[in-house]
Amino acid sequence: MGSLDRTGWVQQSRGVSLVTPAGEVRTPVFVPDATRGVIRGVAPDQLRAVGVEALLVSTAHLAVHPGASVVAKLGGIHDFTAWTGPVVADSGGFQAFSLLGSPGLGQVTDRGFRYRFSPKDKYRQLTPESAIQAQVRMGADIVYCLDLCTSPRATREDQERSVELTERWARQCRRAFDALMADRDPPHPLLFAVVQGGPHADLRARCAETLAEIGFDGYGFGGYPILEGRLVDEVVALPGLVGGAPLHGLGIGSPDSLVTAWSAGYDVFDCVLPTRNGRRGVLYRMSEDPLGRHATIARMDNERWIRERGPIDPTCDCPACSTFSAGYLAHLFAIEDRLAATLGSLHNLRFYVRLLERLRAADRPG
Ligand SMILES: [Zn+2]
Repeated sequence: MGSLDRTGWVQQSRGVSLVTPAGEVRTPVFVPDATRGVIRGVAPDQLRAVGVEALLVSTAHLAVHPGASVVAKLGGIHDFTAWTGPVVADSGGFQAFSLLGSPGLGQVTDRGFRYRFSPKDKYRQLTPESAIQAQVRMGADIVYCLDLCTSPRATREDQERSVELTERWARQCRRAFDALMADRDPPHPLLFAVVQGGPHADLRARCAETLAEIGFDGYGFGGYPILEGRLVDEVVALPGLVGGAPLHGLGIGSPDSLVTAWSAGYDVFDCVLPTRNGRRGVLYRMSEDPLGRHATIARMDNERWIRERGPIDPTCDCPACSTFSAGYLAHLFAIEDRLAATLGSLHNLRFYVRLLERLRAADRPG
């Protein structure tokens, strides 16, 4: 342990540790979404100060602006962003999928995706090989295989095609990754794959089994993890199918969903919620429950905060709570000052870090 020549994951008494080229991360861990290479309005040293350990970036976005080659030219994702900790890249598949519903923006073929964010842009090709190349070129520490996400309303036939292509692309990604690594000295990034199959337990099991046979350093839950406000049953079933490897609850989630997924066996979480809510003045407050369930929400536009001299959350030690009254914060949100968005993001990220610290100290059920 400790040698970064040997990246991968290590079973600990509680959870697993991910050993990445940029350092080791204990799990469970929450990885905020720095989609375009930045947590909006927050600098890397501020993220470190509230305990953030790793960031997730979007390959589809960075491949367009500024381009994977520009990121590489500027020293890779760590030099580019001045974030020294581990960086998880997604494959770009989810963004490409989200563009499929808009005519003229996205298309899926057996070879991958064609996508663009606006009709004015040129089309980009995202193939299993190019997705891996872009992530490795940018210097991501955890690299994701290209997968085909589906809508929960998709037909069984569409879900079968999604699994078939996700498996085929995962094989191609594994080969492309191994070919790139053959010429590189360690430490090597970790390679994760995504399990699809929609709501069908048999397809999920088949996809998980095939991916586990190919062999990856970790697995993500693909598709929509939450419907009508609750985690779908397939999320809870997945941990039993991948045999102890690290599991990433992609896009999970709210504090309650995150705790439920952790209880089921997930180790890594990412979501836009804490920063999106933080920028909008929707702030989390820690409940008394030792596992952090039933987090309460403070909305800064609620009158109750205007004359509050105390902090948003007396148990929180973030820059907002340790420096400013809730009343002043409510004022900053009311006048839409940029400081409000920064402080709101930092407070919510600190809440997630503290929630994960509680989980790390607890025994996982089962
Ligand atoms: Zn705070």
